[in-house]
Amino acid sequence: MRRTAALIVGGGPAGAAAAIGLARRGDTVELLERSRGPRDLVCGGFLGWDALSLLRQCGLNAATLGAHPITRLRVVTNAGAAEADLPHLAAGLSRRTLDEALLARAAEQGAVVRRGVSVRSVDPDERAVRLSDGQEIVADRLYLATGKHELRGAARPIADRPLAAGLRAAMMPRPADRDRLAGFIELHPLPDGYAGLLLQEDGSANLCLSVAQERMAGGSAKLLADLAREARALGRWIEQAEDGWAAIAGVPYGWRARGTEPGLFRLGDQGAVIASLAGDGVAIALASGLGVARGGPSAPAFQRRFARRAARPLAVAGAIKSLAEAPAASGVAARLLRFVPGAASVAARLTRIGARPV
Ligand SMILES: Cc1cc2nc3c(=O)[nH]c(=O)nc-3n(C[C@H](O)[C@H](O)[C@H](O)COP(=O)(O)OP(=O)(O)OC[C@H]3O[C@@H](n4cnc5c(N)ncnc54)[C@H](O)[C@@H]3O)c2cc1C
Repeated sequence: MRRTAALIVGGGPAGAAAAIGLARRGDTVELLERSRGPRDLVCGGFLGWDALSLLRQCGLNAATLGAHPITRLRVVTNAGAAEADLPHLAAGLSRRTLDEALLARAAEQGAVVRRGVSVRSVDPDERAVRLSDGQEIVADRLYLATGKHELRGAARPIADRPLAAGLRAAMMPRPADRDRLAGFIELHPLPDGYAGLLLQEDGSANLCLSVAQERMAGGSAKLLADLAREARALGRWIEQAEDGWAAIAGVPYGWRARGTEPGLFRLGDQGAVIASLAGDGVAIALASGLGVARGGPSAPAFQRRFARRAARPLAVAGAIKSLAEAPAASGVAARLLRFVPGAASVAARLTRIGARPV
């Protein structure tokens, strides 16, 4: 068993931003990330203007990383498509590129970043973690940033919530499809979910969808075949994706941690999970990660601050999700987008956590 000052478990945007913020103010920081090298996650790859600003506060410029600029929203239903301007510049960037850049930045700032290290369980009262090789580390301050993945001993109490599943694939689009997608985030509402499409830094299209977890019961191949029939425009993209789908289940949209144990900070998706349709999860992760370096040392005070800041974006995103998923309502929403200029802009603004660290 060894002791350390600040230990971060998970090197996604939340954990990496916390490492950057804490190391920058001079703390001794160690971050444990189970992936050994670059990898993609089930994520839409959409970065809103708040995420772009928070990235700059981490010392990174998304444009320099090659992010594809996005200025417009397109909603596609079987009845047709509606388009609208976004209020500010957004971007498409793969998680492979984003997460590697954040981890490299954390190391540059002086954090010790250990890759290929998996935490098996946590004792929240002792702030002790056990690694998969049996080693134990006790931390003065422990930061949980494992995203959608539960840690034994510190799992989020989400069993009685409706859960969602996600699927993601990337593909090189046909030239005509690429031209049509350039500059857009394209959303396809589905009966109990949605699909999102955008271009990434290497010209590939990222197709990510989220559905109620029950729909995965027959397996992802059946789900994709069903969706291709239900949403015709989406079907063409599903065909292009062929295989190479990654899946995730157990996503508790709308969940927030309202309290925590002393010295134990829950960051990113471990603290608040926004409906992914809003495309603000990465911003929330960054805002919470950077926020721990700003406030005092009290974890319960931080957690309450984080829960308050996340309340409005989570509630608005949940309401938009319900609206978009009701078959009759999604047609209405698409018409609203077409005939009420600014409706998309208002909705997009209300679902942002904002560019200020928590
Ligand atoms: C279908 C879907 C689409 C989405 N699309 C978007 C989008 O377009 N834009 C957006 O902003 N947000 C989107 N989100 C939300 C976004 O992906 C999350 O909110 C964000 O990734 C949370 O960041 P995080 O750092 O908390 O966790 P994660 O990004 O999940 O990172 C957690 C890290 O912890 C590591 N880890 C896990 N367990 C362990 C362990 N035991 N030991 C060591 N390391 C561990 C993992 O390897 C990973 O690197 C989407 C979510 C879903 C489900």
